[in-house]
Amino acid sequence: MKLTYEPIIGLEIHGELLTNSKMFCSCSADYGSAPEPNTNICPTCTGLPGAMPVVNKKATELAALVGLALNCSINKHNTFARKNYYYPDLPKGYQISQYELPIAEKGWLEVNADGENQLKVRVRRVHIEEDTAKLSHEKNYALVDFNRAGVPLLEIVSEPDIRTVEAALDYATKVRAILRYLGVNSGDMEKGVLRFEANISVRPVGSDEFRTRTEIKNLNSFRALTRASAYEIERQIQIYESGGTVVQETLGWDDVRGVTTSQRSKEEAHDYRYFPEPDLPPLQLSDAWIESIRSQLPELPEAKTKRFIADFGLTPSEARFLTSERTLANYFESVVAKSKSPAKTIHSWIAGEFMRYLNDSGLSIDDVTLAPESFAKLIDMVTDKTIGASAGKTVLTELLTKGGDPVQIVKEKNLLQLTDVNAIQELVTKILNDNPKEVDEYNAGKETLFQWFMGQVARATKGKADPNVAKGLMVKGLEERKK
Ligand SMILES: [Zn+2]
Repeated sequence: MKLTYEPIIGLEIHGELLTNSKMFCSCSADYGSAPEPNTNICPTCTGLPGAMPVVNKKATELAALVGLALNCSINKHNTFARKNYYYPDLPKGYQISQYELPIAEKGWLEVNADGENQLKVRVRRVHIEEDTAKLSHEKNYALVDFNRAGVPLLEIVSEPDIRTVEAALDYATKVRAILRYLGVNSGDMEKGVLRFEANISVRPVGSDEFRTRTEIKNLNSFRALTRASAYEIERQIQIYESGGTVVQETLGWDDVRGVTTSQRSKEEAHDYRYFPEPDLPPLQLSDAWIESIRSQLPELPEAKTKRFIADFGLTPSEARFLTSERTLANYFESVVAKSKSPAKTIHSWIAGEFMRYLNDSGLSIDDVTLAPESFAKLIDMVTDKTIGASAGKTVLTELLTKGGDPVQIVKEKNLLQLTDVNAIQELVTKILNDNPKEVDEYNAGKETLFQWFMGQVARATKGKADPNVAKGLMVKGLEERKK
């Protein structure tokens, strides 16, 4: 009998914090703007002897904010530690991190387990550390750029509670959304400001053992996270199925070949010889300080989603789409506030034509200059049948590309919808009288001709006749001519 396996997945998420300066010195944290390699540096972030680190207050605030958003408790007394290892991108020969007492721990985040059930993934810890330098490997040598060295980095470590690749993806997606909501990280994975690591093992379904796990480093996209995890799960199952054992090791992900590759045997904590950072005192946080950070928490995606479902009658997937970005959710609410149309209609416009335009033109919601008032006015004109839906799309494109006033555009482009029943009736009667052959064929059973008749109405009115009125009159007219 073939055993069925289940994966055990834990995720580590590294995110740079959006501060002005680096974690322990006053160099700019915006290393991407540095004109040349190795110009955004000082004795502290290059590890020169005698240089002393000073904790970045803002980074501490942002880290606490993330901890609170992930339902963690904040350690009022937390400490820095040296994580010792040698690598060319680490100028001091150690990284200042937090080990025994991180700033936040014991939180949780609810994720989608399998499309139906929710799963509470426990967050083991959130701690502050510093980013490394950047290496670029050339043919016969490597170059090192210390501009990034010492940028504040947050590490968010989950417990191994995840059981499917889908849940891992949902967890990573939700953490990224929260970081963006809090404004602590841009979530721009192409720039490497957010990276994932997956710890993976597998075990027979029904067993509660924890088998040897491997760790896949530096996953720089959601796609890499899902592909690498799925590959690694299958690889480990194959090893057990053929009677082998999984070796504990650190793996890389080769995105081109679609395989995980061995990098080095996994370090244990004792390999790093952690000890308390002698140059930094412990952080002592007061209750008042923690509460002042808590008061800065915005409404988070999960709460916003629930509110959108309750207040606006949206489906969960509609609400989740709108709340995926804080700016998008705000934009939607601003349009709703200015419009007389149902919120569901506004969702359709935003999820439909509006997003299509953004995607096609490679823009983000932050680039949109269309005022919510104008968008609301346009949607209301379609709702009250001043213009038809297709005319509405024309006006929206005009508004997004050139700006302007929707009422004015409708006037200039002569888009007012023909709602006068008598006028439409006159036209329908004329079309039926002019085309007796098609009328007979339709009434003899060729029902596809109906669209042709409607096409004649659209052509005569340039698409401006109210489609529902025209349709009703056309059905009635054809029925009357039945012999
Ligand atoms: Zn520096």
